[in-house]
Amino acid sequence: MENKNILIKEVNKLLIKQFGIPKRNSKLPDSVDMLIATILSQNTNDNNSYKAFKKLKEKYPTWEEAAKAKRTSIESVIKVAGLGKQKSAAIKGFLTEITEKKNKISLSYLKNMNESDAINELTNYNGVGVKTASCVLLFAMDRNICPVDTHVHRTVNRIGIVNAKTPDKTFLLLNKNFPPKIAHSFHTNLIRLGREICKPKNPSCGICPLNKLCKYGEKDLQIKRMHKRNDFMLLDHVQSKYSNN
Ligand code: SF4
Repeated sequence: MENKNILIKEVNKLLIKQFGIPKRNSKLPDSVDMLIATILSQNTNDNNSYKAFKKLKEKYPTWEEAAKAKRTSIESVIKVAGLGKQKSAAIKGFLTEITEKKNKISLSYLKNMNESDAINELTNYNGVGVKTASCVLLFAMDRNICPVDTHVHRTVNRIGIVNAKTPDKTFLLLNKNFPPKIAHSFHTNLIRLGREICKPKNPSCGICPLNKLCKYGEKDLQIKRMHKRNDFMLLDHVQSKYSNN
């Protein structure tokens, strides 16, 4: 087995010891819901993007209704999530394009595709990037894929699991033969590590459970207070009454 995978498994174990196994809903959310929630989550916190997602579902109970709405109407509904113009254009663009291509708004046709074909298919839609596509695969289709957001990119590079300048490059290196069955806990706990301990500036290495194995060259080993617990994950809450399922 590659060193990278040995390190991923060890990091996963230590993070579970620190934070526990992240909770997951037993029922998977709808893939289109997940895609739109991920678009809304870009460059904002999970609380605001969750509010925007709820407002959007309340205003347009079906995606067919949202597809017929004006982009500017969608923009005003989702403004709490920020970047309203860009996000409404991506949402409207995706809904229009999938309706034209498939004659219905459903991603169920991805079910029989392998991971890389499904990522390629999703990223062919305007406004859908690798992070959004990989979140759909992990959170809505239960595939063993680790999406790379800003926290995952920063932490896996500091730890020394990969060495890459951009999140998309990190995604490719990290997911090459990713160890089975642990993508959800690894991804979710790394985000929590990034929010609470391995912050962009002044990481709290002195209280970090990964301190011994992490290869970061600029560790700050002062013993600091733990940051406030921050484990609300939007993409694990795209479910139940806000889902079309
Ligand atoms: S030891 Fe420091 S740099 Fe390494 S993962 Fe922990 S907080 Fe981040």
